[in-house]
Amino acid sequence: MTGSILEVRGLARRFGGVVALAGLDLTVRRGTVTALIGPNGAGKSTAFQCISGVIKPDSGTVRFEGQDITGWRPDRITGAGLVRSFQIARGIPRLTVLENLLLYGQAQPGESVLTAFLGTAAQKRREEALREKARAIAGRLNLARVLDNPAAALSGGQKKLMEIGRALMADPKLLILDEPVAGVNPTLSAEIATHIAHLRDEGMTVLIVEHHMDFVASLCDPVIVMAEGRPLMEGSFEQVANDPRVQEAYMGR
Ligand code: ADP
Ligand code: MG
Repeated sequence: MTGSILEVRGLARRFGGVVALAGLDLTVRRGTVTALIGPNGAGKSTAFQCISGVIKPDSGTVRFEGQDITGWRPDRITGAGLVRSFQIARGIPRLTVLENLLLYGQAQPGESVLTAFLGTAAQKRREEALREKARAIAGRLNLARVLDNPAAALSGGQKKLMEIGRALMADPKLLILDEPVAGVNPTLSAEIATHIAHLRDEGMTVLIVEHHMDFVASLCDPVIVMAEGRPLMEGSFEQVANDPRVQEAYMGR
């Protein structure tokens, strides 16, 4: 497990008669920004859901940091450091950005039990520490200016950044992002890529599903291609983009 943070082996999942995952093997190396790409229906979202515990695989295993986490509940997986941010920003619109970040910080497993045992003063200190953490995260994501604005007033791109910020509140070792720049303009998309590159440079590992190939080309290495619920190939963006098997998989749809 030295080089890898996540190892998926033989992951299978059906929905009725539809085979979404047909024995997926996937290894994510520590310290990389790895992309998972593939045509529509390849099983990317199903793979993310199985890895993050949202749905259970029919068979196969997911190992994170050397530990078998297959079938664990999502909050337990988050608590272990595997944090997933959703394709659809799930912030609460009428709450401020700060409040949205704090919500995630407080939703840690064991937190409610812990606060029940803390005195009021200790609880206040803990809240202030969480606020500081939220401010620091907002600062690095260029959200400091809008910290007290309701989430509903954010631009589409800022909502994406807030969603990444909420995930960062949970101290991820592996951050999983489903389409972080879907619907975002090119300028902001480049800014999001820069933020993610900084997180990687600080030691975080990131796994991304994204259809915007400019974004993938500029940020992700390696790129893993899947098709029909299985891995197809892995390599640099150039390698996979020029591979006839990959071109065929995309054309075939
Ligand atoms: P991708 O994210 O790569 O586009 P998905 O994982 O969403 O692919 O889907 C893989 C296959 O599984 C598709 O054929 C899709 O229609 C099917 N599928 C995914 N989720 C469900 C579901 N909840 N119910 C029925 N079929 C599903
Ligand atoms: Mg999908």
